[in-house]
This record gives sequence, structure tokens and C-alpha cells, in this order.
Amino acid sequence: MLEGFRSPFDATVVELLQRAGARIIGKANCDEFGMGSLNLHSAHGAVVNPHQPPSSSRPWEEREQRSAGGSSGGSAAAVAASMAHVALGTDTGGSVRLPASYCGVVGFKPSYGILSRWGIVSYADSLDCVGLLGRDTTYVGQAFDVLSQYDHKDPSAATPDTRQKAVDALNTHAKDWNFASSLQGLRIGVPQEYFPSELDRKILKPFRSVVDILTSLGASVIPVNMPSTPYALSAYYVIASAEASSNLARYDGIQYGLRVEPPPGSDLTKTSKIYAHTRSQGFGSEVRKRILLGTYALTADAFDNYFLQAQRLRQLVRQDFDNVFRMANPLKDLPPVSQPDAHPGVDVLLHPSAIRTAPHLPSPADEADSSQTDSLPSYVQDVLTVPASLAGVPAISVPAGLAEDGWPVGVSVVSQWGCDKLVLDVAKAIE
Ligand code: GLN
Repeated sequence: MLEGFRSPFDATVVELLQRAGARIIGKANCDEFGMGSLNLHSAHGAVVNPHQPPSSSRPWEEREQRSAGGSSGGSAAAVAASMAHVALGTDTGGSVRLPASYCGVVGFKPSYGILSRWGIVSYADSLDCVGLLGRDTTYVGQAFDVLSQYDHKDPSAATPDTRQKAVDALNTHAKDWNFASSLQGLRIGVPQEYFPSELDRKILKPFRSVVDILTSLGASVIPVNMPSTPYALSAYYVIASAEASSNLARYDGIQYGLRVEPPPGSDLTKTSKIYAHTRSQGFGSEVRKRILLGTYALTADAFDNYFLQAQRLRQLVRQDFDNVFRMANPLKDLPPVSQPDAHPGVDVLLHPSAIRTAPHLPSPADEADSSQTDSLPSYVQDVLTVPASLAGVPAISVPAGLAEDGWPVGVSVVSQWGCDKLVLDVAKAIE
């Protein structure tokens, strides 16, 4: 749809990086409109994960072809292949954290509203965040410092007041720990629901070694429950598709981008013909599927059962996060009601970033067989990343070493809205 389109202006995040002296070296491949988890839905073809297991001595042409993850697979691959120190991506439901986990790099989705979305192609506005990928947390943290500024051009940007509230809240708690020497005083929750049946057991060993590192540094690791987690994936796919169906209505063949003139002889009006032909040819199959699904969820018949239910589930998922953190949510006006017998809450959550290591890219034979390219296995890849997206909280995936198959495993550190510095600090202790 946007082939050959060149934006007449730079996104705020690009401008800020350039102003700080960074050099933009290229644009990275990604799933079309950010829709995908394996980077298979790109007009440019799939991104191949640059990682190779240490024991592999195969020449480049015969190497294992695994997915770099999606949708920001190109950004993760560019960083993993040492082409860039830092890369940008968008994370609507995990598109920065999942590729980071598969490629063995750091992937950070800041709190919703902290980085400007001005100039970013919208997928689902209530979830879209600009995210950062980097070789280590130092690069990611430096780029985050440059980009973390209020931008009046982004209507969903957190205001300076709200940002200050979050900084104050974090400072109040920061006296409880001293990261310079240890993680003494830091309370880390491990949510039991983040170990679903789909999770490959190979992930557990690297995950446990991270838990051991953190406890040896003095942190307390506490099991916690987040009971609404199993509903997050379905709620996400309804909300994201509904918002996408509305956002992508702007690609109509009239205003900009591709325009396909209809063949003569159809009985639609001229404008609807252009609209229908342009959208049928300009969008790939995954994007068309999401537009249809989202449009359906917003119809009068389906609205209550799909869209409203998904919004209710989103509230429950958010509530789970507010219940486990000891920091109050700065976006809520009221402090949490204190429950005398409840535990004091945790500062961060720790869980595997993905249910498995990078999957193999489908062979041409698999592509011909539709059961092998079914979307469900790809949607399930997001099961551990979408809850933080629905709640708008900061989440970072850090490499936790290699699984038995020699491929990278990522662990995620998640915290309350506005605690971006805290997740970066804890991530630093892990790497
Ligand atoms: N895989 C998810 C989706 O297809 C997340 C994508 C994203 O974060 N951009 O919606």
C-alpha cells in the first residue's frame, strides 16, 4: 500500500536522535503495518535471524534459517548482526520484545505515552508504543534518555505533570534499595500464569539462572498471581484489530499511497471501485484478515459480545498489574485502598519473554500447505507480551543465555507505569 511512499517529514523520535548526534543508517524490514510475530508478512520477504548456535560450523548458505521474530524483526536482526548500536521499532503487543528475545538482544517497550508517536504509522493507537532495541541496556538507556520527552504533537503523550508524578512515586520507593552495590530490598514477583502449557520447557533453565543471579544480588523473588492473564491474548487481538480497521481506513487510494483504477464494467460508483480495488490489492492477506475481523467486532451485532467484552478484559488485566505492584499507578487519581492482609506488593515482575526460542522459517513446501501457515501458532507467540501492552506498563526483554538448542532466550522485567528507569536498572543487573 505504501510502496514508494516517502514521508514528507521525520517522526519526532527520528528528529530527536539526529539532534543528539545519532546517524540513521537505514529503514528496517517489518511485518506489514506491524501485524505479525514472525516477520513473515512483509512485502520484502522474511527476515532471517542472524544468530547461529555456537556449535554450528555450517557455512553461511547452509545455516539454520530461523525467524527473527516480528513485527520489528529487521530492527532486531540489524542490532544482532552489529549493523547498528540501537534500532527503533513499534511495540503494540510485543513487536520489540519478541524479536529481541529470538535474536538475543535487548528490547524495551517504555510506558505507554512516554515516547512520542508523532510521525509513526498507526496500528492500534491505544496500544502503540515506540520501542528500542540494542546490544545492551546501556545503549538502550542512552537512547531512551534522548527520546523520553513530552511532545505536544502527540495527543496521547503523557503530560509533564504525569511524568513528574511517576518520578516522585519512584523516588519515594527508591530509598528501599541501593542498586550501586546490590539489589537488596528489591521485591521481584514471578507471575505463575506466565508459565502456560504452550511454554517450551527448554526456556526454564536460562530463566532459573536469571532468578539465581537476582537472588544472589540480594533481591527477594516472590511468586504472585495475575489471574486475568489467560484472557489477555483474545482481548488484545479483538482490540488491536478493531483499532486497526479504523486506522487503516485512511489508505483508500484517494488521498495517498497506492491507487488501483478498477477495470471497466463494475456497477459500483467510481470512488467505491477505486477504494475496493486499491485495498484488495494493496494490503497483504494478514492485514486484510485483521481489517475484516476488526470491522466485524465493531458492527452493531458484534460490538457488545466482542469489542466491549475485550475492553472489560483489558480492565481486569490492568487491575492485575495494579494489584501486584507496591507502587500506585500514577495515572489513577486515587491511591490504592490498602488491604491489611495483602502482601506489600512487588517492585517488578520477571517472566520469560517468549514461549520458545526462534521458530524455523517455513520452507516453500510449508508455505504451500495452509495448515503450516495458520495464524494461530503465530498469535500464540505473543501470549507473554500482550498483558503489559494492554496495561500500558514498561517492559524490557533481556538476553538470558542460550537454550539447549543453542538459540537465545529472553526474560522480561515489567513494572508499574512510569517506572521505566527501574526496569532498565534491573535489566542491567541481569545482563
Ligand atoms: N504480533 C502482534 C500483532 O500482530 C504484535 C504486533 C506489534 O506489536 N506490532 O498484533
